[in-house]
Amino acid sequence: MAISTDSRSEEKAAQHSQEEKRWVLSDFEVGKALGRGKFGHVYLAREKRSNQIVALKVLFKSQLKQSQVEHQLRREVEIQSHLRHPNILRLYGYFYDQTRVYLILEYAAKGELYKELQRCKHFSERRSATYIASLARALIYLHGKHVIHRDIKPENLLIGVQGELKIADFGWSVHTFNRRRTMCGTLDYLPPEMVEKTEHDYHVDIWSLGILCYEFLYGLPPFEAKEHSETYRRIVKVDLKFPAKPFVSPAAKDLISQMLVKNSAHRLPLNKVLEHPWIVQNADPSGVYRG
Ligand code: ATP
Ligand code: MG
Repeated sequence: MAISTDSRSEEKAAQHSQEEKRWVLSDFEVGKALGRGKFGHVYLAREKRSNQIVALKVLFKSQLKQSQVEHQLRREVEIQSHLRHPNILRLYGYFYDQTRVYLILEYAAKGELYKELQRCKHFSERRSATYIASLARALIYLHGKHVIHRDIKPENLLIGVQGELKIADFGWSVHTFNRRRTMCGTLDYLPPEMVEKTEHDYHVDIWSLGILCYEFLYGLPPFEAKEHSETYRRIVKVDLKFPAKPFVSPAAKDLISQMLVKNSAHRLPLNKVLEHPWIVQNADPSGVYRG
């Protein structure tokens, strides 16, 4: 095995490892705890043979069973392990013992975006646009693979060593391809809302990207309210307000307004997001925000 960074040899290594390599805990030297999740802990670790630094996520089987999320975890692993994109956190593999399941994840050296946003209060237009562009590219890649993330938010974004954003946490993602394939043959009887369903599902990620863009720039999500019911009401009527802030330009508001559209089919497609003047003018062409 080698947890290689070259994508070609990575694929070979992945095939190789699926056929032959069975990971065990003793393959890793486990270091400090990086964080704590709902179902276990995440540790910094070094794969002994390749010397590669990874994040090892340790989940307790008993807790997974109790919360009935084994199926969800299996889907998460199945989807994430096949993805290769600079802005998507790699899942190199997994293994388990009697009591625990271990996920071998790419290590995101600069930690959680959520904490960065808290620390900075809000991001500059340059930084926000660079992040939104890299996320749009990652989502275009995902959608091309028939995957919808469905849970894009600051808590699920990590920052790599160069400052690049990494989408993590595929717990709510779905692979639409299977569904479409199983539909074959029975298509004649499908009502319009079912035929349109998978197509429209992709648009949830555009909405989330719009929310994220607003939160990056203003430091708060757009429909925040004291009561859940009030937030719900504001979302449903798309009660979008832009507080007067000198650091947010009209072009940014224009982009947000085009993503946060109630009719999902009318949301700005991701390739058009990348061509929007605010992105073109502000996003760092290298795709990385260096501060
Ligand atoms: P859950 O996703 O189960 O709701 P969570 O998001 O709170 O839980 P995890 O995603 O398991 O928790 O991660 C816990 C913490 O560990 C994260 O918030 C982050 O700080 C850290 N962490 C997780 N994965 C990595 C990684 N690949 N690289 C660096 N730090 C990580
Ligand atoms: Mg998480």
